[in-house]
Amino acid sequence: MLESKQRQITDTEKLPIPTVQAIIDGKLTGALSGKTLEVVSPIDGKMIAAIPDCEAADVDRAVAGARRAFEARRWQGMSPKQRKRVLLDWADRVAAEALRLAALESRDMGMPIRLAEELEINFAIDSLRWYGEAADKLYDELAHLDDNVTAMISRTPLGVVGAILPWNAPAMIGAWKLGPALVAGNSVVLKPAEDASLVCLRIVELALEAGMPEGVLQVVTGDHKAGAALAAHRDVDCITFTGSGEVGRQIMTAAANSNLKRVSLELGGKSANIVFADAPDLAMAADISVGFMFGNQGQVCEAPTRLLVQRAIRDSFTEEIVKRTRALTIGNPLDLRTDLGPIVNAAQRTQIVARMERAEKEGVRFALDGRGTEVPGTGFYLAPSVAVDVDPKSSLAQEEIFWPVLSVLSFDSVDEAIALANGTRYGLGASIWSNNLDNVFYIAKRLVAGNININGGTGPVVELPFGGFKESGFGRDRSLHAIDKYSDLKNVIIRTAR
Ligand code: NAD
Repeated sequence: MLESKQRQITDTEKLPIPTVQAIIDGKLTGALSGKTLEVVSPIDGKMIAAIPDCEAADVDRAVAGARRAFEARRWQGMSPKQRKRVLLDWADRVAAEALRLAALESRDMGMPIRLAEELEINFAIDSLRWYGEAADKLYDELAHLDDNVTAMISRTPLGVVGAILPWNAPAMIGAWKLGPALVAGNSVVLKPAEDASLVCLRIVELALEAGMPEGVLQVVTGDHKAGAALAAHRDVDCITFTGSGEVGRQIMTAAANSNLKRVSLELGGKSANIVFADAPDLAMAADISVGFMFGNQGQVCEAPTRLLVQRAIRDSFTEEIVKRTRALTIGNPLDLRTDLGPIVNAAQRTQIVARMERAEKEGVRFALDGRGTEVPGTGFYLAPSVAVDVDPKSSLAQEEIFWPVLSVLSFDSVDEAIALANGTRYGLGASIWSNNLDNVFYIAKRLVAGNININGGTGPVVELPFGGFKESGFGRDRSLHAIDKYSDLKNVIIRTAR
């Protein structure tokens, strides 16, 4: 079974990369300048493709086409049932290519193939289906203001939405944004990250094959220049962004300095994973903590990067964590046995090592130091690390870590755990492991985080809103609530003669 799937993956690798062009007005196109960006695979540092290096002029073209499609009501004018059919057909087409897309993702940014297929691509499919199914189940409101006066309160699309993505999970984060933005009736200009565009390009191409009308969904590839041009564009009505806080700030500034477009930001995190001695199953807690922390090489916004362990079990639980982390398999992300693939690019790997050195100078001790572990091949690999007795005020415990380094902190009381968990500028996720229901609810109410898992909770699901508090951003992806940020309410008040 495993061998036959592995063979399929190897066969997939031999296929050409499906799409390496931007998609504007239903056509594959290069940048107007003719310039391209190299796509380097983190597996071996070799160039596997080149994508258009789109700039402001290309963004202008894409936004103008998206606006034309919107004004012509090519999409919002379709019946909800028709739009549902397109979205469901699109999801089926993505599902038919799931393994190929997962392998493309592994080659492009290094996500282990199991995760790429089971989480990333399947979640993208699930999200497109979920919003497709919602398309003909959304109703507006009526208010009866007088015997002869009725008001219709209707959800109205904003117009042109710019969606800017990070590289760590482009298919699923893309689908969380495209699904609700399209269901609301908007046109969308998608700007994938320069380190992970290939899967987005193919997925959008499949939307066109499923009958998405020309211009409704555009893709501009490129780096910060394309993103900045979209954020500053006066004819874009909304930017939905997932990425770093630094770029989030620039996007807010660009919105304020241009047309006051709406902005929603899904930014970084520093999630606390609070483990009490009375956890129902400490072995399961250790398994899930390690899997969640090091999945995708720790390059997950919600990853539980701070492990807060009650002092009574600190040493024994940390030992279990180190044991499990040491047992993870590092290797080619296209191998089904791999737990950790390479870091997304060489610069990021260099930066991680530099920051680990800085942490060491600040007094951090590594119970497991990935820098000393032999890693395969010539790619940008880095084995996982576990830092212990971490000072809650240190840079390692305070700054977002988007890499495979876990910090272990300890606490005695419930209130101490809450103070530590809330003691950063982020507020994205948190986990609690305890059998004491009174404590669990007391803590959950006080944690400043958008997503709190108790005793394992669940992995990410499209049914629940997702987003953060504080500097983790604002606005929610996923669930029906996500549609709110891509639409607004309009009153139409009707007075009849009698
Ligand atoms: P990034 O902020 O560097 O880049 C994100 C995107 O913004 C890319 O497409 C990039 O080209 C574009 N961009 C760069 N400069 C821009 C500018 N001035 N204006 C507009 N766009 C610009 O982030 P990244 O390195 O791709 O991703 C990692 C970050 O994303 C981490 O901070 C991580 O926590 C965050 N993230 C958050 C979530 C979440 O849901 N909260 C999910 C995944 C990743």
